[in-house]
Amino acid sequence: MSVDDRHSASHTLVIGGGVIGVCCAWYLSKRGARVTVLERDQVGKGASFGNAGTIAPGHGAINKPGRVGQALKSLFDPLSPLYVAPRLDPELVRWLWAFIRTCTEEHAAYTMGVLGRLGHATSHLFDELVASEKLDCCYHHEGYHEVYQTGHGLESAKREAEFTRRYGFHPETLSGEALREREPAISSRILGGVFFPEAARINPYRFVCEMAERARRNGAVFRTGVEVADILTAGGKVRGGRARDGETIDADAVVLAAGAYSVPLARKLGLKLPLQAAKGYHRDHKLGQGTPELRRACMLGENLVFCTPMDGFLRLAGTLEFSGVNHEIRRPRLEQLTNAAKRYFNGLESNDSWSEWCGLRPCIADGLPAVGPVARYKGLFIATGHAMAGLTLGPITGKLIAEYILDGRPGMDIAALSPDRF
Ligand SMILES: Cc1cc2nc3c(=O)[nH]c(=O)nc-3n(C[C@H](O)[C@H](O)[C@H](O)COP(=O)(O)OP(=O)(O)OC[C@H]3O[C@@H](n4cnc5c(N)ncnc54)[C@H](O)[C@@H]3O)c2cc1C
Repeated sequence: MSVDDRHSASHTLVIGGGVIGVCCAWYLSKRGARVTVLERDQVGKGASFGNAGTIAPGHGAINKPGRVGQALKSLFDPLSPLYVAPRLDPELVRWLWAFIRTCTEEHAAYTMGVLGRLGHATSHLFDELVASEKLDCCYHHEGYHEVYQTGHGLESAKREAEFTRRYGFHPETLSGEALREREPAISSRILGGVFFPEAARINPYRFVCEMAERARRNGAVFRTGVEVADILTAGGKVRGGRARDGETIDADAVVLAAGAYSVPLARKLGLKLPLQAAKGYHRDHKLGQGTPELRRACMLGENLVFCTPMDGFLRLAGTLEFSGVNHEIRRPRLEQLTNAAKRYFNGLESNDSWSEWCGLRPCIADGLPAVGPVARYKGLFIATGHAMAGLTLGPITGKLIAEYILDGRPGMDIAALSPDRF
């Protein structure tokens, strides 16, 4: 979109009140724009509710050379961290094919080039937002550890750290002893790990609620319990949305930020969005009940489980389960979180948790989110597909969408994220 073609919207509808929709609403309302968020449930109760709460700016896409073998093996192992539930679904087959084709070294470097720039930008935005808006959300910008108990895992983590360094991040490799000095709860079985100093942790639901509250103060309207059934268009332009009960809400810009649930709305407009839901689980263990007290967040390398200290509890979160759009909790997969943590830490005795949850990550086949305008409909913007990094990329996505809508172009080059690329 050129500056001449700028879209000076007078009313923007944001579909979806997750971290992405709320950040879009905040950045738009902060600049004085009129914005209404339509959320079918409650604000922040989708994937944004119970994620691991790590802001991990140096993390690349899930598309990596080793993933193809992992995905194939997982077809026969329902307990593997990455699991594709076998089913005859042509969209899943197309998605897997596109995913497999992009699990190459070249593509990993390409996506990291894009995600790395976004990561640096979003990291500064978190610092700025928490300080200027006085957000009460348990934010700690102090890095996190990835820890490994196999030589193979540690070697590949070191290679990954080396790769990340090329993009302006400063990971530090650590021996098992050095890790145990920093985190006494780490078991003697751990051989070593990597420290990512640029990372931070936050209570993700509190962040979304605080941002929504600040957006309200700026004049944004949040309507909950309103499910958008159609995005309305006329003559190649958007003109609003129609709710499930038939109500129409006029707008001259619409941001589709419905996370893993975005596909049906895009499809109704004839738009391709190669997005699959990747289910993840969490289990929260109260501190002081045989739960290891970690000083920083920690990722259990071989199991891809994040362990994040939050206010009064330790959250174990992870697993990537491609089983469609459903919220069925598969208990053995949930149990895997605690079982894995027991192998990495001393002192986790009990299986008792006070919160068990699953949520759906919106994953696009090429590993990059879709953020920006849609050429076919003036005024339509997409902001979804953030996969494992939706919390991390929330603020930068909100800022870029506000710039597209209010200035006609984003403040940084994000052509690689164009929703027209499919
Ligand atoms: C276990 C787990 C751990 C994770 N850990 C991290 C992490 O540590 N760091 C990180 O950066 N990311 C993490 N993620 C990913 C992150 O949670 C997601 O990328 C992010 O929450 C996606 O945000 P969203 O706003 O796009 O989607 P959501 O939070 O799912 O929000 C979408 C909203 O749209 C609403 N909606 C859907 N359809 C409609 C409709 N038709 N009309 C109105 N409303 C609608 C839904 O109700 C929902 O509230 C994790 C995810 C999981 C599952």
